[in-house]
Order: sequence, then C-alpha cells, then structure tokens
Amino acid sequence: MKYDVVVVGAGPVGSTAARYAALNGAKVLLLEEHASIGSPVGCTGLLSTRAVAECDLKPSDEFVFNSVRGAFVHAPDGQCLPIDGKQTKAYVVSRKNFDRALAVMAVEEGVELSLRTRAVGLEKKNPETGKEGKESSQVKLRILRNGRPETVCTSVVIGADGVKSRIASYAGLEKPARVLPGIQIEAPYASDDSDFVELFPGSFAPGFFAWTVPVDEKVSRIALALEPRLALKSDQKDCSPLSYLERFLRSNPHVKARYSGGMLDFVVGGIPIGPQEKTVSDGIILAGDAAGQAKPTSGGGIYTGAFAAKIAGKVAAKAALERDTSAKRLFEYDQLWRKGLGRELEIGMKIHDYIGKLEDRQLNDLIGSLNTPSILNTITEYGDMDHPSILMRKLMFSGNSLRLMKAFGTFIRTLF
Ligand SMILES: Cc1cc2nc3c(=O)[nH]c(=O)nc-3n(C[C@H](O)[C@H](O)[C@H](O)COP(=O)(O)OP(=O)(O)OC[C@H]3O[C@@H](n4cnc5c(N)ncnc54)[C@H](O)[C@@H]3O)c2cc1C
Repeated sequence: MKYDVVVVGAGPVGSTAARYAALNGAKVLLLEEHASIGSPVGCTGLLSTRAVAECDLKPSDEFVFNSVRGAFVHAPDGQCLPIDGKQTKAYVVSRKNFDRALAVMAVEEGVELSLRTRAVGLEKKNPETGKEGKESSQVKLRILRNGRPETVCTSVVIGADGVKSRIASYAGLEKPARVLPGIQIEAPYASDDSDFVELFPGSFAPGFFAWTVPVDEKVSRIALALEPRLALKSDQKDCSPLSYLERFLRSNPHVKARYSGGMLDFVVGGIPIGPQEKTVSDGIILAGDAAGQAKPTSGGGIYTGAFAAKIAGKVAAKAALERDTSAKRLFEYDQLWRKGLGRELEIGMKIHDYIGKLEDRQLNDLIGSLNTPSILNTITEYGDMDHPSILMRKLMFSGNSLRLMKAFGTFIRTLF
C-alpha cells in the first residue's frame, strides 16, 4: 500500500498533523497502537483557550468539564499568591473526548485511521536506486496491524508517537533528552474555588511543581512532576514520583485538609522539555512530544504540539506531492516551528532551570515579593500560559523592576 504521508500516533498532535496533510492534498494514513483513541490518558487536561483554538476546536460540552480563570500559587511556607485572570483562561477537559474530536476531524478530511496498529521499524529506500538516504526517498514502514506484520510505503512519516518516540530511534534521530516524570490522581477534593487551579512549587516536587486542577467543586486532578536529578539530591529516601505524591497528599497542610482519600483515576507519564536539535531527516518529521515541544514552564504540550503539527502536516503533504522529501526539503518544517515557538521554549527553559533550583525559603521570598496589587494587576493583564516571556518582559520593564531585581537577582536580565 502506498501513501503520501503516514502519521504514527493518533494523539492530538498526530490527528492534527494528519488532518493538515489531508487538507493539503495528501493521501494519509494515521496509525494508533492502542485499541481506543485518547486512552490511556497521560495528561491533566488543562488547556488554555488558545490551545483549544489552535486545534481548530470550539469549547464544547463534548469534552469540557470545567473552565478556570486563574491560579492560587502556594508558597512552601503556606502564603498564597492569588492570580485572577478575570475571564476564562483555560478549560479542564476530558482528554479522551478531546483526542476523539480531533481524530473525527481528521477522518472527515479523508484520513484513513487504523487502530491496533503499531509502527515497529522502518527503512528508507530511493525508488530509482534502491539505496538508502537519497533525496525523494520512499519510506517502508513496518507495522503490526492487529498483531500481524505488514509493510506500508510512504513518502513521509510523521512521528507523533509521544515522548518515547520509536520513530525518532528508527530514523536515527535523537529522542527528547530531558523528561520530567509526572504522576497524577483524580480524586475527591473540596476546592476552595473551582474557577482556580492551585500550584505548589518547592520541595514537594523538586525542580518543578505540584498542582491541583478542579474537574468540579468535588473532584480535582492532583499531580506533580519533578526533575529526577534534583529529586535524587533531596533528603527523601524514596525519590520516585509516587513517593513524592504520597508525601504531598499526606503532608501539605492545604491539600491534606481538602483531599478525602482514595482515587478515581491514576495517571503516569513523562513531560519532555527541550526540543532536539534535529526534528527532520530524509522522509521523516517529528512533532509534539516526540520532538520535545512541551513548555518547560508548565509542562503543557497541546498548544505547542498543535502549532507544530499543522506545519508538519502541510510541509509533509507539499513535499510528498512535489516528490522531494529529502531532509533539506523537510527542513522547512523545522525552521517554521522554531520561528513560532523556539524563542518561547528557550526562555521557558531558562525560567524552568532558574525556578527549579530555588530552595523553599527563596521561593517564599520570591512569591512574597510578587504579592503587591501593582504586580498582581500586571500578572492579570499580561499573564499567558503559553507565552510566559510576555509577562516576564512586562514585569521587568514596569515600575516594579527594582523590586523584581531584588527577587530574581540578575537572572531576569539574562532572559532577553
Ligand atoms: C502528568 C501529565 C500531565 C500533563 N498535563 C497537561 C496539561 O494539563 N495540558 C497540556 O497541554 N499538556 C499536558 N501534558 C502534556 C501532554 O499530555 C502532551 O504534551 C501531549 O499529550 C502530547 O501530544 P502528542 O500527540 O505529541 O503525544 P501523545 O498524546 O503521547 O500521543 C502519542 C500517541 O502515539 C501512540 N503511539 C506511540 N508509539 C506508537 C507506535 N509505535 N505506533 C503507533 N502508535 C504509537 C500512542 O499510543 C499515543 O496515542 C501532561 C503530561 C503529563 C505526563
């Protein structure tokens, strides 16, 4: 069987890339190894309004459980920074239904979707010479469909197969180098206000943070992700994410008072931070978590992944139809996604590394110093989950710069 584009992985990025390839005239096959779209879930499902729009979806009861407009940032010493965005900033979604909505849109554009189909290897062949790695190479993708081996031929493979991307390995590309292990339960939790998420930076989750995201007033998704190398340096004996989550539920006074025990759902997964240097090779494109495109500040990967997926689908289709699928031709994708996201991810990584290294007492000082009406107003006006650099820049060049310089030291000056 011969396709112009085969997309491996029917997560949000794969379905979006497949749809855009089809919209640009390609014959597209979308493969998913599981028997069901959107399952198992590896996500909190907090999507900015922009992320939903980037996926070309309108918020709908089909997948939205709740809307949130801000965050309570809890310092390790218990003080709370209330950030009120004053309007809906994000949705809490059913990832299963969200992923399904995207897969349906792909199929409606003519994409062929094959479940229980796993990519298990590939080889690149030039149709004229039969040699590997030449321009306009054909890719032979080995798959197991319902457990039976098959081969599909295609001009381009888009690896949207997540953080453990096997397509990256098969194509000789690097996988995301830095991955934050994350863990989450959905559980009974009496939120103070289900319009707000709660964030807990500090030693409960070394190098990143813990969070609660309200599904409704009675149930929240309680999660954390951490930097393994910082967790290993801590004085906790068991450095597994599960052990950290248990400690957070047991020992954080705010959470302990609201969490009634037990769980309704359990999720583990990895968050890739820091994209690889190369996201294309002959006949291959990587997108989404497979390309390390999640935001290092929040761990969110849907907005950035969807942004890159659209470019991936379009470039793959055009290249296949032009019969030049060389790495040189596909590099257009690399250039375009980095133009849109590269700088923000770079600044996000600096913020991630800086905040992650702060000790609890430094975080207490930092959060305390942000708790002024003027700074909170700036955060309300310019806070943006997807573009934290906008707020950092506004804060830096506002009348509060002296206060911030004291809080952040010289770090903030190195950002821009
Ligand atoms: C604990 C946690 C919480 C998170 N919370 C949020 C959040 O609130 N908001 C947010 O924006 N992001 C969040 N993320 C990140 C988000 O889940 C990812 O960035 C997003 O799912 C990436 O989408 P993707 O399509 O690239 O990959 P995935 O969603 O991982 O999809 C990859 C798909 O490829 C399939 N696949 C893999 N290998 C093969 C193969 N060989 N053959 C066929 N199919 C294959 C998989 O089954 C899967 O369906 C969170 C991550 C974690 C771990």
